[in-house]
Amino acid sequence: MTIYNFSAGPAMLPAAVLKKAQAELLDWQGRGISVMEVSHRSPEYIALAEEAEQNLRDLMSIPDNYAVLFMHGGGRNHFSSVPLNIADESATVDYVTTGSWSQIAFDEAKKYVRHVNLAAQTEETPQGKAIPLVADWQLSDGAAYVHYCPNETVDGIALHEVPDVAAPLVADMSSVILAEPLDVSKFGVIYAGAQKNIGPSGFSVVIIRKDLLATRQSRVCTVMNYQVQAAEKSMYNTPNTWAWYLSGEVFKWLQREGGVAAMGEQNHAKARLLYECIDNNPFYRNQVHPRNRSIMNIPFQLAKPELDNVFLSQAAEQGLIALKGHRFVGGMRASMYNAMPYAGAQALVDFMTRFAQQHG
Ligand code: PMP
Repeated sequence: MTIYNFSAGPAMLPAAVLKKAQAELLDWQGRGISVMEVSHRSPEYIALAEEAEQNLRDLMSIPDNYAVLFMHGGGRNHFSSVPLNIADESATVDYVTTGSWSQIAFDEAKKYVRHVNLAAQTEETPQGKAIPLVADWQLSDGAAYVHYCPNETVDGIALHEVPDVAAPLVADMSSVILAEPLDVSKFGVIYAGAQKNIGPSGFSVVIIRKDLLATRQSRVCTVMNYQVQAAEKSMYNTPNTWAWYLSGEVFKWLQREGGVAAMGEQNHAKARLLYECIDNNPFYRNQVHPRNRSIMNIPFQLAKPELDNVFLSQAAEQGLIALKGHRFVGGMRASMYNAMPYAGAQALVDFMTRFAQQHG
């Protein structure tokens, strides 16, 4: 039976990547040892690391005035590292809280920066939860940065336009990086925990405009200092070489699959299929305003919540796993990152249609 894994993260990885890693585990590049047992300073590992960075640059068309960092920690690391690296204690910074993750980032920033302004937050509207229009955000003059989360993994809420703001824009792209084409030049900092569209957990990618590296890092611990890590090519300390290797394999896989343009088309098609199923079937409900619906994480409720566990166990019997919604939200959630094929979305919709017929 084919297993389709709808986990929000750590999430499904491309089978081709896992098979290659498996084949190379005991014998990387004919050396008779694994990539995990090679010095990160060796020419062969540095070649791997540089190739991964270049492939990510090519995939995302990252301009030359941006540094790419492969860092320790996942997404949450940067909830503290961003304020510590690019704002000083007396700075003003703007946060937009659209869901659970940006709320945590907002709370974390308050530990390090005196004026943390809530510029906008998700609100209930008759058409569902919605992000206020960017024109209505209460932005501060002279903010060191504006932080937002373009795709809220728990809530399934997304901002599909890049906000046009004066201060450097900082985006937590943990659950949407590489999911569709993006104009990196509109951002000051993009960061992402790796465990959804990139690779293993505990690893993260930072894309930072180089002029922001020259700011005020006296308070940040050295391993999380973006300037130091940029100067040291992310090898100030020993990086997670295994995660870097796997991420590099995912980037190569993405290139073979047609890059982010092809991913974007497929991701939108998968999401459309599932939203149509939810909207056309009174047994299911999604509570997000149509303009802010995520293409990656799609929460939905059953009309009979007492059947949640039956739904989950019958889905699992069909190979459709990890559909339980986040504990904050309840119900179901289908996360469909790049590695989820269209056939997985189709299998879920077929199951949901049958389930609703039986129980609706
Ligand atoms: N931001 C977002 C948008 C996330 O989805 C997550 C994890 N699901 C995080 C941050 C936290 O990442 P980590 O657990 O790797 O610290």
